[in-house]
Amino acid sequence: MRFRKWTISGFPRTLDRGAFVAYFLGSVAPLAALGVVVERYALSPAALPAEGHYAIALVALVSGICVLSLGSFLMLRRLVTRAVERSLVQAYSDPLTGLPNRLLFNRRLERTLADARRHNHLSAVCFLDIDGFKRINDSLGHGVGDELLRQVATRLKENLRSSDVIGRSNSARCEPSISRLGGDEFTFLISEVSGPKSASSVVWRLLEALRKPFELEGREVMVTASVGIAMIPTDGEDPETLLRNADLAMYWAKGCGRNNYQLFAESMDTTAQRRLNVERCLRRSLEQYPFSLVYQPIRDAHSARVVAVEALLRWDDPELGVVGPSEFIPVAEEAGLIAPLGEWVLRTACAQVKAWQDAGYRAPRMCVNASGIQIRHPSWASRVQAILENTGLSPESLELEITESTILSEADGTLEALRELSERGVSLALDDFGTGYSSLRYLHAFPIDRVKIDQTFVQSVHTGIGRSLTGAIISMAHSLGMVAVAEGVETEEQAEFLRETGCDELQGFLFAKPSPPDQLVQFLEKEKDE
Ligand code: C2E
Ligand code: MG
Ligand code: MG
Repeated sequence: MRFRKWTISGFPRTLDRGAFVAYFLGSVAPLAALGVVVERYALSPAALPAEGHYAIALVALVSGICVLSLGSFLMLRRLVTRAVERSLVQAYSDPLTGLPNRLLFNRRLERTLADARRHNHLSAVCFLDIDGFKRINDSLGHGVGDELLRQVATRLKENLRSSDVIGRSNSARCEPSISRLGGDEFTFLISEVSGPKSASSVVWRLLEALRKPFELEGREVMVTASVGIAMIPTDGEDPETLLRNADLAMYWAKGCGRNNYQLFAESMDTTAQRRLNVERCLRRSLEQYPFSLVYQPIRDAHSARVVAVEALLRWDDPELGVVGPSEFIPVAEEAGLIAPLGEWVLRTACAQVKAWQDAGYRAPRMCVNASGIQIRHPSWASRVQAILENTGLSPESLELEITESTILSEADGTLEALRELSERGVSLALDDFGTGYSSLRYLHAFPIDRVKIDQTFVQSVHTGIGRSLTGAIISMAHSLGMVAVAEGVETEEQAEFLRETGCDELQGFLFAKPSPPDQLVQFLEKEKDE
């Protein structure tokens, strides 16, 4: 694509000058000829102009007309050029940042791939996504979000040296290859690199540049980004595959904690294929429901009585076999399938505990995991209440387990929904505590009854630091008026330490693995007898 030919500013300027000279000569020449004839005739009206004068006037007139036509032609050409230029700029650039858009980037990528193959060299295509951009947009408004995108675009452009652009042979005429694909996604090419290492160092430099604060409406905002890198031509046969692989690597970088880059590897593709398969089967399963719930008892640390059970979802898919919740729950969340699934879990668990109560067991509290995405739904609190009413379960028998990331999204009505449920008697537990980023302010703001200490802490109590951290979490929970529950208790030593440190409730394989409802009844039977 010869887009740049139309944007060289010198070209139209030359046309301007040419048209002006043509118009000047075209107007002056016939006027001069007319002047000569009039002057002769006026000075001696008796004398008719000589034939030579008529010839001069005619030549001047004809040449004037020619030059005027040339000027008009040049002006017309200029207008057409401008119109074409404007429509090309519109078709190939992103209106927000002025950067090339996806269409132009694809053409450049095509050319870079062809060059890399022809000259047998390596280049890199990079996919950059701003971390947590949605949060900035939601909290500071779309206007600020747009301004941030513009500033990010400028900073990326400034920091991509001329050596990182296409067409190095004529770097003075090169624009940086950075493009905006849409949203907060940017792509760029690093041409003719010696290997993945040098591409990575360019990317690292860009990430460092982005870490410096941005000034948005008088306040400083810090952002980070994640980048995926695919090598050209080794990581893809065609531009689409290359871009998809760079995108995959970017997702990998996000999964590795964000604010970093990842080079594409074949295994990422395998993982992505698996994820797609899981999503496809999950969609189909939502019609047939090959799901079940297993229940794991939670004991009082001192009396050893079963005070609660946690409902854990199981999926035995006809095609994929058994898939663990740690794998399919995140997929269900991303694919927007968690709401119906979560609702099924809640309804089934509530109906189960009610059935135990009706059968005369001293039914324990039912703990149900709730995903942050579910909770953010505006009608979630009323759905929970409807399920409680339909199953006839009292709210005091239900506990919802939420994770730290859920309570961080305070802005979108989560707090109100949780408060509403808490006021009606449903208790709340903060699951996997210690693995997220919750601040004490959030712990204080939310109506949390229990803190579930993540099993990584529990399983490290044989070390000094593990003991200190676990002890500190228990003290913190107590001082905030919360109950401390330890997850993943596997050995008697761990249980002993937890009891001594004042932990209130214990859950883990040491006491029981999650089991189907008929097996759990055996635990409830024992409780009945005691
Ligand atoms: P979680 O809520 O923290 O559940 C505890 C997990 O630890 C369960 O894994 C349980 O089987 C396992 N576990 C219990 N005791 C021990 C132990 O002593 N040692 C070890 N190594 N593990 C133990 P599971 O069932 O694979 O669930 C994993 C996660 O999936 C859950 O972690 C929860 O976050 C999510 N999950 C499960 N069911 C649901 C659900 O219905 N809805 C939602 N949103 N998430 C769910
Ligand atoms: Mg849980
Ligand atoms: Mg947990």
